[in-house]
Amino acid sequence: MPTRIAATSQTCVPNSKLRRSLRPCKILLVLAFGMLAGCSNLHVPDVQIVSRADWAGADDVPMMERFVEHAPDRLTIHHAGVVDDGSVAGDEKMRRLFNFSVKQRPWGDVPYHFVIDRTGCIREGRDMIYAPDTNTSYDVDSHICICVNGDLTKQPLMENQYRSLVDLLVKLAADLDVPNDRIAGHKDYAPGETTCPGVLENYIENGWLIEDMENVRAGKPYEFRESQYVSSESKK
Ligand SMILES: [Zn+2]
Repeated sequence: MPTRIAATSQTCVPNSKLRRSLRPCKILLVLAFGMLAGCSNLHVPDVQIVSRADWAGADDVPMMERFVEHAPDRLTIHHAGVVDDGSVAGDEKMRRLFNFSVKQRPWGDVPYHFVIDRTGCIREGRDMIYAPDTNTSYDVDSHICICVNGDLTKQPLMENQYRSLVDLLVKLAADLDVPNDRIAGHKDYAPGETTCPGVLENYIENGWLIEDMENVRAGKPYEFRESQYVSSESKK
């Protein structure tokens, strides 16, 4: 069963503004590799997450009978695929996504485990002990799904969104023991079916995402790099 990430209540602070904390390497890791690898402290950021209880209305209760339990071992990145002009507040967007998920889809809750809005605020979605859901045909078992709001084939990725994503990935990878090679985009599992996660695929393909995660792990700052979405068709 995965470690549960404590969700914070009420206000959302973009992660880029948060204090980063040091966390000692796990004792076993130090014992096994410390001498050889010169293992120092891993930096795992304090990730602020708005709890499900804080965005959900009284009627937004998950439908437990629709859930399938799983054992998470990979982190998968999505974009919402819907243009977000910021006119609908993040909590309300989550409630709308919940309604769509249980009424227009046979899902038990929002399909993602975490959603990052355009300001970089992270909201908790479905419980990580349950597999996610998808409109495409890949096997969702073992995936922890993170959605970045907006249509990132048409809208820019916001710096705060990216920094929150990097911090959340570092935190989840540490908590769930997920190696870098199991961090990928939706399209990597459903080629030809989706353009998700839009421009974020560039950051995955050219190694920037893992580079920036390694910078966070090393306690080093990194520059946000902008990238333009180029469709797979144009790349051929
Ligand atoms: Zn997706």
